[in-house]
Amino acid sequence: MPLAYFDNAASTKVDPRVAEAMLPYFCDKYANPSALHAPAQECRNAIEIARETIAELLGADDPSEVLFTSGATEGNNTVLNSFSGKLLVSAIEHPSIRGAALCTGRAYIIPVDKTGTLDFVAYAELLKTEKPELVSVMLVNNEIGATQDIERIGAMAHAAGARFHSDITQGVGKRRLHLASLSIDYATLSGHKIHAPKGIGALWVRTGAPLKQFLVGGTHEYGCRAGTSNTPCIVALGEAARILIEEGEVETARMKAQRTRIAKALTEQIPNMQINGQTDGAPHILSVSFRLTEGESVIINLDSEGICCTAGSACSSGGGEISPVLEAIGLSDEWVGGTVRISLSRFTTEAEIDLLIGAMVRSVTAVRNLSGFAIG
Ligand code: PMP
Repeated sequence: MPLAYFDNAASTKVDPRVAEAMLPYFCDKYANPSALHAPAQECRNAIEIARETIAELLGADDPSEVLFTSGATEGNNTVLNSFSGKLLVSAIEHPSIRGAALCTGRAYIIPVDKTGTLDFVAYAELLKTEKPELVSVMLVNNEIGATQDIERIGAMAHAAGARFHSDITQGVGKRRLHLASLSIDYATLSGHKIHAPKGIGALWVRTGAPLKQFLVGGTHEYGCRAGTSNTPCIVALGEAARILIEEGEVETARMKAQRTRIAKALTEQIPNMQINGQTDGAPHILSVSFRLTEGESVIINLDSEGICCTAGSACSSGGGEISPVLEAIGLSDEWVGGTVRISLSRFTTEAEIDLLIGAMVRSVTAVRNLSGFAIG
C-alpha cells in the first residue's frame, strides 16, 4: 500500500461501509433480481432503495429517472448515441465525451479560457451558427478541477432548442445538486470516484428526454439498458450516495482546506511553479505545473517514496500525447510537461499531506538538478 495516495480523481478507495453493505449480495443474496421468487424480490428491493438514494443525492424528481450503468463511460456514450444531429462539447471533456463525440464527425468544440472556464461568447455563437441537438459540458474537470456554471450553460442550450447533458462524475457529492430544478436533461456519474467499486455508475435522464437503448437484449432498467442488474455494485453505489448525503458537506470543507494548505506550501517552497485552473475550483483536485521539469520523472520519484500522484491525468498519461485539457487552457511547452495532479478524498490525512509536501520539494529539486535546470 502507498504511504500517501493522492490519485483520487483516478479512483478512490472503497469505503469500508460500502464494502460491508455489498457483501451479503455475493454469497447470500445472489438471486437474479429479475426472477419472480422471494430471494429475487429481496434483491430487487435493495436495488430500488439504492435508486431512491441516488435520486435524493442528485435532487431528482423521480427515482425512475436513475438508470444503472457500468460507469460514466457507458453513460456518456449512451447519451451521445441518442442523438443523430450536431453535438457541442467543451474542449476539456473527458475522452468518453470528447473522443466519442469527435468520432461521430458531427461534433463542435466549445473553447475554454486559461482557467478552464467555458467561453460563453464562443458558446453563444456556436449555439446560433451550428444549432446543435445536444450540448455536453462537464460539472468538474478531472485534470484541473475547473468547475462550470451548468445552470447557465443548460439554460442557454434550452433557449436554443438543444438538450443539455453534464458529466457530473467529478462533482457529485462535492456540491449540493438539485437537478430537477436546473436546465439539464442528462447527468452521468461513476461509482469508483465516490468510494464505491469500479464498473458501476448511474445515468440520470429527465422524464421525457429521448434515450436510445445502447445495450440491447432485455427489458432491464425500464427497457433502457439490457443486462442482469449488478446487485452488489448497485447496493454499493446506493451506500456511497447515502454517505455523501450525510457527510458530503463536511468532507468537502475538509478537502478544500487541505487543498489550500498543499497549494500554499508548494508555492512557498518550490520556485517556478504555477497552479492551473480556477482559484475556487473543485475541492479535491489541485493541478500544478513545474516549469521546465519533467512531470513523469517527478511522479516516479514520488512513487519511490510511496506517494501516488499523476502526471496530467490518468486517462491521458502513458499515451505520450499532450493532454487536450492542458492544451485547451493554453499551457505553454515550458509548463505543460511538468504538470502534476494531486487529488484528495474523504480518507486523505494531514500526515499524508506532510509526506507529500516534503517529497514533492525533494522530487522536483532532484529532477531539476539532474536536467541542469537553474532554479530561481
Ligand atoms: N468522466 C470523468 C469526468 C471521469 O473523471 C471519468 C473517470 N476518469 C470518467 C468519465 C469515466 O468513468 P468510468 O471509469 O466509470 O468509465
